[in-house]
Amino acid sequence: MAKLTFLGAAGCVTGSKYLVEAAGKKLLVDCGIFQGTDDLKERNWKPLPVDPKTIDYLVLTHAHLDHTGWLPVLVRDGFNKTIFANPATIELTGILLKDSGHLQEEETEDAQKHKWSKHAQPKALYTSADIDPVLRLMKPMPRSGGFDVSPEFHFESYDAGHILGSSSLELTITENGKKSVVVFSGDIGRYQQVILNDPKTPTAKQIDLLLCESTYGDREHEAGDPLQMLGDVVNRVVKRGGSIVIPAFAIGRTQTFMYLLKELENLQRIPKVPVYVDSPMALSATDLYLKHKEDHDLVFAREEQNGGDPLNVHEFHLARSVEDSKKINDVKTPCIIISASGMVTGGRVLHHLANRLGDARNCVILGGFQAEGTRGRALQEGAKTLSLFGRVVPVCAEIVEMGQFSAHAGKNELMRWMTGLQVPPKQVYMTHGEPQAAQSLQQAVAEKFRWKAAVARYLDAVEIA
Ligand SMILES: [Zn+2]
Repeated sequence: MAKLTFLGAAGCVTGSKYLVEAAGKKLLVDCGIFQGTDDLKERNWKPLPVDPKTIDYLVLTHAHLDHTGWLPVLVRDGFNKTIFANPATIELTGILLKDSGHLQEEETEDAQKHKWSKHAQPKALYTSADIDPVLRLMKPMPRSGGFDVSPEFHFESYDAGHILGSSSLELTITENGKKSVVVFSGDIGRYQQVILNDPKTPTAKQIDLLLCESTYGDREHEAGDPLQMLGDVVNRVVKRGGSIVIPAFAIGRTQTFMYLLKELENLQRIPKVPVYVDSPMALSATDLYLKHKEDHDLVFAREEQNGGDPLNVHEFHLARSVEDSKKINDVKTPCIIISASGMVTGGRVLHHLANRLGDARNCVILGGFQAEGTRGRALQEGAKTLSLFGRVVPVCAEIVEMGQFSAHAGKNELMRWMTGLQVPPKQVYMTHGEPQAAQSLQQAVAEKFRWKAAVARYLDAVEIA
């Protein structure tokens, strides 16, 4: 009997890994890193309950690190088969993993030098040297439509509208001449967002198991026009002589902010202020966003066709090197700084916050999901101080939460996505959500659709069909 084991993103939003065992084969969908609380991060150091050498196939839904960031460990531990993903996901994963390996090296060195780690001997989970062996195993699968991974595993991919290349996957398993179908929602994006297409619901005619993400399973995003909201904040902060720091992942939200800032400038709704994108990888990611036209929505495609450069603001600076990054500290006039990581768990944004949080004229815009245990969540919940590089920094800057910039569907959008299914799933598991969010979505699904729904539990194995 085919079964599926939740090796991550069950009871939390990170560490996505689902193991399918059927017809004597093992297939892993996603291989994410755990982020957030110490308990979760501890899991990254433990071996998988399945020997990586025995896994036959691996397929990725999208490039975000909570879906790919553990690949270097899996490969180091002996996985040596093919990793399938669509072309955009392969390219983005390469950029992200290199950055992740590099950041971990930098942080470990810094922690050793300045002794701010909780660990006596801080160690990197992996380094840049572990990345190439992963990239060598990656092979492209189509952006949309059908693809046979093997005689027993067939996939159909659908645009999930979450980040470039993001997919929902429909897996058909053939075992002893019988077919069973598992639908993996992946991370579901927003309807009517800028740049990307709307999420598409898979069209399977049989669904034995549905895994549905529940990041915002208990919440709606605030209503309101993102352009208007961002314009208001920029005008307010610039007027009082402050600067804006936006913790954002170099992929996805960075491009969204650049697009909207450019629009606001064009419409003369904000003054022209310098925008610093402080990330060694943001420019490569932006190039990829422009390159992969198959993911562009109509408005974005039209602007490009008209010869525009929809992601290029009037005064744009890219900080690639650490020196470039440090120079931004000297900018005393109003500016906008976009820098990773989005949940303030690491990366160069830490330096910008250490430098600017203490000034009440400044502002921090939180645009994405802030997981439990992260500094981003602490800011969101009104922390008066933040611990950065072993020192306590007062939070005087204005903190603005803008759910409009989330790359994740809100509760209604998740329900809308599920409403699009053509047959009721025999069983649904809520994944990729903190307990309260997953439970809330489970209840909504049970009430509205009357489907058999449960919250996925870490390391639980369930039967398919
Ligand atoms: Zn994601």
